Order: sequence, then C-alpha cells, then structure tokens
Amino acid sequence: MGRLIRLLMGVAVAAGATVAWHPAVALGFTGFGATSADATYGVSMTFRVELEGGPPDRLELLLRMSGDDGLFVAPVQASGDGAQYVWDAADRHLTPNTRVTYAWRATDGGQVQVSPEGSLLYDDDRPGLDWRSTRLGEATVHWYGTAETIARGLGELAADGAANAEALLGHDMRGAVDIFVYDSQEDFFGALGPGAREWTGAATYPALRTIFMSLTSGDQAYRERTLVHEVTHVVFNDATDNPFHEPAKWLNEGLASWAESQSADAERSEVEFEASNDGLFAFEAIAEQFPIGERGARLAYAQSATMVDMIVAEHGRQAIAEIAAAYRDGASDSEALEAGTGQSAEELYAGFYAEFGVEAPQPVPPAPILPSDVRRPGADGGTQDGGPPATAAPGSGGDPAVRDEPVPWPALVAVVGGVAAVLGVAWAVTRRRTPGSEA
Ligand SMILES: [Zn+2]
Repeated sequence: MGRLIRLLMGVAVAAGATVAWHPAVALGFTGFGATSADATYGVSMTFRVELEGGPPDRLELLLRMSGDDGLFVAPVQASGDGAQYVWDAADRHLTPNTRVTYAWRATDGGQVQVSPEGSLLYDDDRPGLDWRSTRLGEATVHWYGTAETIARGLGELAADGAANAEALLGHDMRGAVDIFVYDSQEDFFGALGPGAREWTGAATYPALRTIFMSLTSGDQAYRERTLVHEVTHVVFNDATDNPFHEPAKWLNEGLASWAESQSADAERSEVEFEASNDGLFAFEAIAEQFPIGERGARLAYAQSATMVDMIVAEHGRQAIAEIAAAYRDGASDSEALEAGTGQSAEELYAGFYAEFGVEAPQPVPPAPILPSDVRRPGADGGTQDGGPPATAAPGSGGDPAVRDEPVPWPALVAVVGGVAAVLGVAWAVTRRRTPGSEA
C-alpha cells in the first residue's frame, strides 16, 4: 500500500499537482510511518509521526516520564499525512535529565494500534552550558565552564558516598547517579524550575537518579557534606522502594544526615538543648513532613540523625539493611523498625526519650468547638460584620445562639490557632528543606 501511495504521489508531483491536494489521504490509515522527537530545554518538546495512508479516526500521543508511574495521553489532530504534538516546556516545567518515552496510539475502525516506542532525553541544553561529563564509580558527574576540578572532586565523593550507603543499606543502586554541577545561581535555579525555594543549594530527584548542585551556595565543606547526604537519599530510595508507601521521613533524612559523618555527634547537642526545654518531637509527627520553621526543621534533622545513630550503636549496622529489606517487602514503618532491631517502634521511641531524660511527647488534645458567636442578619436587627454587637434591647428576643456578650477571645484565639496549625502543616507538605540545607 505504501508503495502504491508513493507511486501515486510521484504521479501527482509529476503532473504539477500539490501533494496535499492528492487524494492519498482518503485511502485511510494504513499504519504508522517514522516517528521522531526533539526538545529544547525550557522551550518545548516536539513529537512527530508520519501517517502515510492518512490519519486514523482517533490519534493520541502517549508519554511516560522517567520516575513517574503515570501515563500522559494527549489527543492529537493529524494534518494530512502526519501529525505533531508540542509540549510547551515554558509553561509546563519538566526537570532536566528526565527521560521521556513516547508512542503513538491510533484507533481506527474499532482497531487499536500502537507505534513502536521512542525515547527522548529532556536535557538542559541551554545556550552556554557546554556540558562535559565523566563516570566515576556509580556517579556520572557533569559540569561546564571552568568547574572541572571541583566537579571531579564532587564526583569522586559521590561515588564513595554511594558505595558507603550501599554497604549500610545492604542494597546496590539500580543505576548510576547523575550529578549536574552549576557554577551560576541563575543556571542552577533555571534547572530547578519555578517551585524551588530561593535558599536551595542542592536538589535531589531520587526517581530521576539526579542531583543538581550549585557551586555558589555554601563553602566546599558544605557542598561535600550535602553531596554525601543527597547521594544517600538516592540509594535509600532504591533500597526501600515498594509499591505501598514511602518510609518514614525521619528515617530517610536521619540516615542521609548520619551518612555525612557516619555519626550524629554534631546533632546530639541540638537534641539535648531542645530536650531540656521539653521540646522534642514525637517520631510520628516527623514521619511524613518536617516543620518549615528553621528551629523546628533543625531539630527534626537532629532528632532523626540521633535516632539513626542510636539504632546503629545498639543494634549494629546490619539493622539498617534489615529495615530497608523489610520496606522492600512492603512493611509498615513499625514492622520495618521491628524487623531490623527486634524492638517495637514504641520501645525504640521510648528508649530515645529516656536517653535524653524526658517523657515521650503526647498528642495535643483538640480544643472543643464552642457555639457560634457570629451575629446573623435579621437575628436581632444587627447586620454588622465582625464589630461589637449592636445595642439590643434586653429581652428583644432573636436567635438564642446570638449573644450580646463580649467575644470570648481566649476561645477564639484557640480556634484560630488550631486552623493556623493545620494550614502550617499543609504548607510544610510543599517544602523541601530548611535554610542552609539542600532539598
Ligand atoms: Zn535530605
């Protein structure tokens, strides 16, 4: 069929007719021709397919981004003997180093046909970034400009950090880690996209096996600590990966922080100080997210690293590998901790607080919700919003819920405080890391 169409098109061209005018399209969909894709970072990704016999009844582009289980399906309108889909990358940020797998799906006459898969690497190809790279152990480090010496040093450190984390977690990484070293703040934030916090000095995307480092934040010691921390997150992600849930955040961050110096010596004093003020967190409270405030976040990291240090000291390094193995099998946080230490989570937590001479934090009971003090229109003639109650004649009736009494400020403050706390937690969900730290 394809040969026939080409022959017909050749005749049409020879006869001086335009190809678009030729009735080849009317022959209908005969299968997919060549597919192609290209991308310009921060601008667009373009996917094309040739449809030699014309378009099918329905045409869709299927996209899968590395590290994402979801399938992106875009309906595409073909034009003539081809179709293209443009992803506006200026509008829809995509993290650089994302591998995009694509295929075209045609539904025609009740039949579904999918094209062979293609693959596109959405890399940071902005002008001026003349990337060079080298593989060092399990790390591939990428740099541009004059950063080669520093970048190679970071790459070696990352390779060592990965090997240490693999030994600790008893699990090999699924593949090398990519480290992109930016030596300008502007270039770095251009890679992270619009959601990055302005104090970020490094960012890790475990699912992409990618770490972005900025050479403009912190000194060399900070960058080295941060890199070991980040690469440990990647190994942890591989070592605990399961389809059910993410391991406790305190364990993930605690291990990464502990890995920086293979101890929690620097963090312990922070925990001691806060313990003396009865200010330690419950571990359940730092299992999902860390506080956004600097002091709370610092304590969360310190408490997490110290707990990991205690587990290693009391149960041996092997406990960490056994905890990770249990997560891979789908264990809950409590089950995983018990699999590694032989102690229940409650016993582990209790031991931690006993070490610092404090009682385990207890949940804050919810405050009762008092009857409404809101004045409602028509209840007693007053319609003001918020202000003090309008003077109402004694015994004038009205809604018994509307009281001509001063607003009970303590109760109101408690309720508003509760709402603020909930909003604070919701906000914390969106954050990554504290000032002076990495994401
Ligand atoms: Zn971290």
